Amino acid sequence: MEQKLGTESRPLRVAIIGAGPAGFYATEALFKTSGLVVQVDMFNRFPTPYGLVREGVAPDHQSIKAVTRIYDKTAENPNFRYFGNVTLGKDVTHADLKKYYDQIIYAVGAQSDRKMGIPGEDLENSYPATVFVGWYNAHPDYCDLEFDLSCERVAVVGNGNVAMDVARILVTEPDELAKTDIADYTIEKLRQSKVKEVILLGRRGPVQAAFTHPELKEFGELPNVTVVIDPAALELDEHSAAALPSDKSATKNVETMRQYATNPHVKGDRKVEFRYLVSPVEVIGKDGKVAAVKIEKNRLEKGADGSIKAVGTGEYETLEVGMIFRSVGYKGAPLADVPFDSKSGIIPNVAGRVTESAGGAVVAGEYVVGWAKRGPSGIIGTNKPDSAATVVSAVQDVSELDGIADENRNPVLIENLLQERGIKYVTYADWHVINKAEIARGEQKGSPRVKFYRVPDMLEVINK
Ligand code: NAP
Repeated sequence: MEQKLGTESRPLRVAIIGAGPAGFYATEALFKTSGLVVQVDMFNRFPTPYGLVREGVAPDHQSIKAVTRIYDKTAENPNFRYFGNVTLGKDVTHADLKKYYDQIIYAVGAQSDRKMGIPGEDLENSYPATVFVGWYNAHPDYCDLEFDLSCERVAVVGNGNVAMDVARILVTEPDELAKTDIADYTIEKLRQSKVKEVILLGRRGPVQAAFTHPELKEFGELPNVTVVIDPAALELDEHSAAALPSDKSATKNVETMRQYATNPHVKGDRKVEFRYLVSPVEVIGKDGKVAAVKIEKNRLEKGADGSIKAVGTGEYETLEVGMIFRSVGYKGAPLADVPFDSKSGIIPNVAGRVTESAGGAVVAGEYVVGWAKRGPSGIIGTNKPDSAATVVSAVQDVSELDGIADENRNPVLIENLLQERGIKYVTYADWHVINKAEIARGEQKGSPRVKFYRVPDMLEVINK
């Protein structure tokens, strides 16, 4: 008689794709499921784990990165293996995973960015903020980009925490950033930067700003930066005034903005300005490069669904800027042979169970967590309950699952396959060696680490 799946004699074999917070929280939830015996193999495109904790969280927010200790603890479980430097769709296929794993959990995040859909958006010196974030965080895909920081004025479109990070990195003293794990090449560029003024463009009002209060407060604490908000922008329309009392975060934001607006002590030679009720309608170029952004003034309207929307007034203004960062949200990208809903930019799912299409049939044995599941929203901690909820679905399904063929259950088979294909995969022990090397490089410079940003350099450290 066939043994039960998820037991000592027939452990559940799960592949997790992506080593960011959502992937680690899914792993943790699987290991904590009582009565379940599970072997987790985590695959990651880069040798280095932690996803956006390494490649997204701003370098001057080091304390947030301490969360990786929890992931390292999860990785200590003897039933966990890490296969870094392995790309799904290139080094391993969906068919390979279906052959060797009873279940697959996609934790791939949102690898692309949303567009504004306006003329001039692709001019030179107009970038998605996500690319700049990758660049200053030593992301291997973006380390070779050259940002022209020779202009004095930059526009950042959007009012999320990414927009705040980008604006802050542009105006913070490079000497301060040099104490962080920011990419070493970025520091050199920032030392030569001529940027003096960053204008954040919010299409709705201050009450609808998506950023969190600590990020807003940080600007006031930067020694050489004056924060500018026109007091008139804080005269709230009826919809915003009605929404404010029940929104704690917006209440704190508006209080702090009022302090900035009424008490603007001028500090240093750098400036961050918050503009509200304005939407870019065109990026204007000169000699192929960004020279200005045309903005339309908005008013707010309440939609039938209760949401507050920005509506153009037909009144325009042109701001001269030499660079523009579009920080209007991340977007998911499709994986080979995995369902993808291009409209919402996620892997379609019901309670984390992958479906063939939005509202379509469930695909047996495949699950999704994190931004790939719900879209690019929430902070790192949001992923813990989100991943745990998907794992509940996955565990509920185990009794219904046939599972892979017994001859494919041996964990060594996937290692053999990768070796046959000449894939230089990186184990978690290897990562610890790379980690130590980065920390040692940092000690020489008085920073927490100096990151490697090229995959061959990472592999050289572990002699691969
Ligand atoms: P976000 O929070 O969704 O913010 C996107 C911003 O873009 C919003 O202000 C949005 O305005 C605006 N926007 C969207 N489309 C636009 C358009 N066509 N024109 C003008 N503005 C437009 O996204 P994010 O900043 O990329 O952050 C993603 C997630 O990561 C968020 O949950 C964020 O909190 C999190 N994160 C957290 C931290 C941290 O904790 N320190 C740091 C970075 C990121 P509307 O509101 O009007 O749509």
